[in-house]
Amino acid sequence: MEKQIIIFCPDCRGKFDVDKSDIVEDDMLECPLCGAELVVLQEDPIKLRLVDPEEDDFF
Ligand SMILES: [Zn+2]
Repeated sequence: MEKQIIIFCPDCRGKFDVDKSDIVEDDMLECPLCGAELVVLQEDPIKLRLVDPEEDDFF
């Protein structure tokens, strides 16, 4: 059985849960509440960073 982890969205401050297997360092998650894209900085303990669209590099 997959373990569910509660994620607090740093953008809308809502919470949602994801499978532990979905938490992969450097991988992206999308907040189902506000659609914000979050990058996993660290798996344990979980650290997330909000992706600021204005920081995207367009090559
Ligand atoms: Zn959110």
